[in-house]
Amino acid sequence: MNRPTHHPGDMLLIDYAGGGLCEGAALAVATHMAFCPACRHAVAEMEAVGGALLDELEPAPLSPGCLEMMMARLDHERPAPCRAGAVASKPAAKSVPKSDCLRYPEPLRGYLRGRLDRDGRLAEEGWRFLQPGMRCIDLPAGANGTTTRLIRMKGGVAVPRHTHGDIELTVVLEGGFSDEFGAFQPGDIAVGDPSLEHRPVSDPEGCLCLATTIGGLKLTGPVGRFLNRFINF
Ligand SMILES: [Zn+2]
Repeated sequence: MNRPTHHPGDMLLIDYAGGGLCEGAALAVATHMAFCPACRHAVAEMEAVGGALLDELEPAPLSPGCLEMMMARLDHERPAPCRAGAVASKPAAKSVPKSDCLRYPEPLRGYLRGRLDRDGRLAEEGWRFLQPGMRCIDLPAGANGTTTRLIRMKGGVAVPRHTHGDIELTVVLEGGFSDEFGAFQPGDIAVGDPSLEHRPVSDPEGCLCLATTIGGLKLTGPVGRFLNRFINF
């Protein structure tokens, strides 16, 4: 398998390394990292630097009422959507996937327990209709306005042109897709945000991907704005 060419970017890797991503976003980044030695190396360095900085911090005495004031400020601080529901123990990409686990590496594999047969293939039951040629399985990592899904698309299927309420992270597991920003192959991660509008189309052999969406999708164009009232991606 070729090494990925589309990466999450430093900000998402720093948030991942610091445990600041919600579970679904951390799962998407960790699944990409299972395919990507460069991002595993980058995160290991970030964690080492973070640990060294923490070691150097001198414990300072707190002034009276300081803790109460900090807690009051945190109560009123609105967390960034991607940080909402951040998990103390983030899903971790522990190692390079073995050949028989390439399609569903850890930590993703752990979320598919009971759905894989002895040969590591996904069961055909449990897929939910999204649109013609496109089905999904909801994964248990989607709290706080987040959906985390496996999405399976037949060849040549187009997702309606859309933008994003917040962040969308899509990791290709098998096959591929293309949009205005490039071609995405197994291991690649596509990062969508509210400034980005696109129309992904699956490759002729189809596409299986892990998609974490925070804040939902919004169809664009006159027809899309009308359809937003009737569908829920
Ligand atoms: Zn990478």
